[in-house]
Amino acid sequence: MLSSLLLTLALAAAPAPNAEILLVDVTVLDGRGGAPEPHRDILISDGVIARIAPTGELPRFAGRVLELPGRFVTPGFVDMHAHVLLHPWKADGGLSPRYDRTAVLRSLRLLLAHGVTTLRDPGSETEAALTFRKLAKDGAIVSPRILTAGRIVNGSSFDPEPFQPVATADDVRREVEWQAAAGVDAIKVYGSLPPDLVQVAIETAHARKLPVIGHLGRTSWTEAARLGIDGIEHGPWTSDTLFGRVAWLEKLDLDGPFMKEMLAALTSRQVVVDPTLIAMHSKLFGDDPSYRQSPDLALLPTSVTDGWPAGSFTASWTPAQYAAAHAAWPKLEALVKRFHEAGVRLTVGTDTPTPWVVPGTSFHREMALLVESGIPAGAVLKMATSGAAEALHLEKEVGSVQEGLQADLVVLRADPTAGIANARQIEWVVHAGVPRRPAEILAEP
Ligand SMILES: [Zn+2]
Repeated sequence: MLSSLLLTLALAAAPAPNAEILLVDVTVLDGRGGAPEPHRDILISDGVIARIAPTGELPRFAGRVLELPGRFVTPGFVDMHAHVLLHPWKADGGLSPRYDRTAVLRSLRLLLAHGVTTLRDPGSETEAALTFRKLAKDGAIVSPRILTAGRIVNGSSFDPEPFQPVATADDVRREVEWQAAAGVDAIKVYGSLPPDLVQVAIETAHARKLPVIGHLGRTSWTEAARLGIDGIEHGPWTSDTLFGRVAWLEKLDLDGPFMKEMLAALTSRQVVVDPTLIAMHSKLFGDDPSYRQSPDLALLPTSVTDGWPAGSFTASWTPAQYAAAHAAWPKLEALVKRFHEAGVRLTVGTDTPTPWVVPGTSFHREMALLVESGIPAGAVLKMATSGAAEALHLEKEVGSVQEGLQADLVVLRADPTAGIANARQIEWVVHAGVPRRPAEILAEP
C-alpha cells in the first residue's frame, strides 16, 4: 500500500526524463571561472551532460530541443546552509516542536525554482532529514539534491530538535558514531561546544570519513582550524549575544593580530567559510521594509511567516540598537572582503528558514550581499557553484558545466557576471537532466 502510494507520488513528481535533450545556442558560463563560451549546444543524455559543442556541430535528433539563443547557462546553485526541516515560529515567538511537512515541501520547491539544485542542510532531526534526502534522490518529491548534517551537536542543555546536547567526550563519540551509522553527510558542532569536545567530534568524524562544520562560539575559528575543522558557518563572533556581536564588530581591528592569526589558520588549512551574510543582515536590518514587507513573504505559507515578527531574534531591539547595528554592517562586509582577498575558501549559504530569510530568494540576496562586500560577481558565481561542489567533495558530479557531470543547470535570460541580479532571470532549471520552468516547479503548493 505504502509502496504503491510512493510509486504514484514518484510518477506524479518526476516528469518522464527525456532520454536526450538538446539546449541550442547558449552562452556557457562553466562555473569554474572560465571565459564565457558563446554559441554552444549542450546535449543532455540520461541526466548527464553528454556533449558541449559549437552550435550546429551536434547532429539533430528526435529528442527534445530547446532553442535558447541569447541565454546563459550556469551550473545549478548550491545553498550551503539551508535547514530542511522547518519548525515554524508560533505567533507568540515560540518555536513549534514539530516540523511542518507542507512547509518543508514548499521550501524545497522554492529553492529549486530559484536555481538551487543542491543544498546542504546544516542541522535537522537526523532520521527525518535522511528520509527527505532519499525522497529527493528518488525523485519522489520535487527538491534539490539534499546533503544533511543531521542533529546539531551542542554543549549546552538546550535540547529542542534539532539540537543534541552533549556533556562529555563519550557523549560526543556516541552521537557522532550514531549519525555516521545513520548515514549523514557531515557533522555539525555548535556554539557551546568547548575546544576539547570539538576536537573529539573532529577525530571521531574524520575516522568515519565525515567532514565537520561548525557554528562556533566557545571555540574560536583559529582554534577550530588548528584542530582540523572542515567548514565554518556564519561569522567569527566571540560574543554569545546577538547585540554583543554588533559591539564586537565595532571593536574589530581588521589589521590586528586576531585577524592575522585567523586568516593564516583558515588559509593554511583550506577551511571553507560560509559567511551567510543574510543571516546577519536580516537581523541587523530586522527593522527594514525590504524584509518586513518583502513580496517574497507571500511565497511561503502564512503558517511560517506569521511567527517571524515575534520569532525574529531582534524582536526586542530598540531603534537605537538598530541604528548601531546598521552602522556596524559595513565592517562585516569589509571582513568578508578581507577573507576573499586573503584566499579563504568561501561559499554561499543562507540559514533559511530563519526569520525573514525566504528559501530560494534569500540565496540571490546572499549573492548580492557578497557582491556588495566587494567580491566580483564572477567570483561569487564560482563560490555558488564549483567552489561549493569542491567543498562538498562533489566536484566530479556537479558544480560546473562540463561533459560527464550531472546535468544540473540554470538557464538565464541575462549574464550573471555582468550583474549578479541577473542570476534571478531564470528561464529553466535543469535538475538531474529534467528541465522545468520556475512557474511549473511552484505550480503546486
Ligand atoms: Zn543554521
